[in-house]
Amino acid sequence: MTAPQGAGALVPGRSCGSCTACCKVLEIKALDKPAGILCRHNTGRACGIYRERPEACAQWHCLWRRIAALPDALRPDRSGVVFGLERRPPGAGAPEGACIVGRALDSEQAFDRWEAVEAFAMFVREGSLPVWKAYECNATLMNPRP
Ligand code: SF4
Ligand code: SF4
Repeated sequence: MTAPQGAGALVPGRSCGSCTACCKVLEIKALDKPAGILCRHNTGRACGIYRERPEACAQWHCLWRRIAALPDALRPDRSGVVFGLERRPPGAGAPEGACIVGRALDSEQAFDRWEAVEAFAMFVREGSLPVWKAYECNATLMNPRP
């Protein structure tokens, strides 16, 4: 998952709480932090350099923070899946193109939980962007064109 991404509107009253999932999934170039590796500044429950965190961290929000229709159970630290808007599909060398990617944090089994199943179905139904399911190096396009 590549940061940054424009801030956009956030769901009122919804906050990250103790979730720090994006501290693992995002690539933060300013810190030389690759995607998929927990940031060295993460304390386990928060950012250890919150006031001085890079702009890329401050600007990025997952889709759970942006879309009110996604249930509370889908908060990434609860569901194990982070949904984000990305600039290019998962996979090395993929051409640029906006898409929605749901990434499992620790296990592909998180994709089987009802909240993730329903969220993928909702994004596919809505249909405006390609929807990808990704875990580590594996990625599946959920709405391939015929
Ligand atoms: S993954 Fe979403 S809810 Fe979790 S810390 Fe990042 S923006 Fe907040
Ligand atoms: S700098 Fe802070 S907010 Fe940014 S990835 Fe690291 S721990 Fe997370």
